Amino acid sequence: MNALAKEGEFGLIERIRARFRQPTAPDYGIGDDCALLTPRVGMQIAVSTDLMTEGVHFDRSYMPAIALGRKALAVNLSDLAAMGAIPRVFFLSFALPRAFSVDYLDGVLEGLAAMADEHDCLLAGGDTCGSQSGLTISITVLGEQKPQYMVKRSGAQAGHDIWVSGTLGDAAAGLEQLQKGAVACDQFLVSRHLDPAPRVGLGIVLAESESVSSMIDISDGLYGDVGHCMRLSGVGAAINLNSLPLSLPYRTFSRQQHDPWLAALTGGEDYELCFTAAPQHEETICNLAKTTGIPVTKIGTVTEQSGVTLYTADGSPYQPERSSYTHF
Ligand code: ADP
Ligand code: MG
Repeated sequence: MNALAKEGEFGLIERIRARFRQPTAPDYGIGDDCALLTPRVGMQIAVSTDLMTEGVHFDRSYMPAIALGRKALAVNLSDLAAMGAIPRVFFLSFALPRAFSVDYLDGVLEGLAAMADEHDCLLAGGDTCGSQSGLTISITVLGEQKPQYMVKRSGAQAGHDIWVSGTLGDAAAGLEQLQKGAVACDQFLVSRHLDPAPRVGLGIVLAESESVSSMIDISDGLYGDVGHCMRLSGVGAAINLNSLPLSLPYRTFSRQQHDPWLAALTGGEDYELCFTAAPQHEETICNLAKTTGIPVTKIGTVTEQSGVTLYTADGSPYQPERSSYTHF
């Protein structure tokens, strides 16, 4: 195992460049002071950036290198999905300790390149520097969409249905098992934490159908993220806990929890889409979801009254003991 220091900053940039598809003329990627990108006619650019740092977002003792690379880009693509934007290019910045393992870095690059290819996203540049304390990866992603199709958080209206894609709480349950070093980790739950799938295709078809009024990707837990959407829309939400889509492995996990809903509502890192739509669009939404192979579930209604209220099966309100994941 050789260390990065031997390679130097420019050797490292060359190592990165060699692994990725990049923009072609008249556009330009790695090598000059700036990347050059030509927006397509009539398109608006969506930009998002996300940082992942060792010890906060991941632990190399249980995070395989390839999964880390995949996830670093996936969490950014999930933000594009939440606007309905089509991925185009990304920028990749690393802070790396001098003695960092080249093998681990190669694994990260392999995972990044695979996720980039799956979503037809080209590497257009980045930055590389040393680190005194572990690995940091920062990615900025650019996507595009017609401005009238971009779905914002602010469009929810009272009476609209609230939907989510996939299932909730799996990633939080998987992380808890990994952190506890559980002997029998559930592979499905663990893979939902290590290798989330951004719902890019679903986000794009929903946006282009103009059937959804607001959308957000669930990164910090449904409860908090629905709250952000509703606040920006000037409305509130009523959610039926009984309607939440929960996987069988999650249900098994939650039986040992003092609160079976907590991870699904506030655990975070689901990277599912939560969106609102007028009730007449239900059939369109179900048909579109079918074409992408991602299930969607109606979980509640947008209310005139602000705040997010959760209801149990017997109609009584329920308050989780924490609201969402926050760093500070
Ligand atoms: P500058 O000194 O102007 O910041 P750099 O020497 O950092 O330029 O970068 C040279 C070129 O390499 C630029 O095109 C930059 O985008 C690219 N680059 C640097 N680091 C990375 C990286 N981690 N991933 C992709 N491209 C990179
Ligand atoms: Mg630089």
